[in-house]
Amino acid sequence: MGAPIGPPIGSPIGNMILQFDIFKPYSDRLVQGITTKDFGSLNGEEKGYESQLKKLKTFSGKIPVFGIQIHSDKILKIDKVPKERPKADALITNKKGLPIGIKVADCQGILLFDPKKNAVAAVHSGWKGSAQNIIGKTVKKMTKEFGSDPGDILAGISPSLGPCCLEFTDPKKELPESMHPYIRGKNLDFWSLSLHQLNEAGVKNIEIKAECTKCHPDRFFSYRNKETGRMAAFIGLK
Ligand SMILES: [Zn+2]
Repeated sequence: MGAPIGPPIGSPIGNMILQFDIFKPYSDRLVQGITTKDFGSLNGEEKGYESQLKKLKTFSGKIPVFGIQIHSDKILKIDKVPKERPKADALITNKKGLPIGIKVADCQGILLFDPKKNAVAAVHSGWKGSAQNIIGKTVKKMTKEFGSDPGDILAGISPSLGPCCLEFTDPKKELPESMHPYIRGKNLDFWSLSLHQLNEAGVKNIEIKAECTKCHPDRFFSYRNKETGRMAAFIGLK
């Protein structure tokens, strides 16, 4: 039995954006949040995407840089707006006015902020990325690139499939051994796993929005509910 998961759920901005309370003391120099279903989809393939991006800009200051997510452990340092969307599942930057983001529907968005070195990261972690420990590798990359002490880094974990709904046919066969302690019956406890990976990387200050995307179709898009909509998790330095 693990400890109960996560602190209480943060208050939404007009129901469209969820913000992490852990980052709020730094709102003078940080933009951050996760869009909800009320915001509308940011899939990128539907009509009206441009106007959705403009709407996002009112919260993020500038339109965030989004990578093309490939369920990899590829992490990219961003110094300016790239000409083409880079293939990567995690982006990091220490540049001001350059928000970064990832898109999710059931997968986890993990946002990291180092207030001492003034650097941020946005990580896309599905169970495949999790198996490759993209979270731990992103923390290491922040240390390498920005000199971050993991003990200074604050982390926020987005709503995702919960232990109720992240179901496998035969999890012990499908998942690597490192993930086995987080198997609950046929399901995976993704929140506890990510919490563990962050802890193992030295990150101690963590907030989890422990709401299951599949169980809350009124608030979140869910791939497993056969929806094509996507939510964005973004973070950036002002
Ligand atoms: Zn659920």
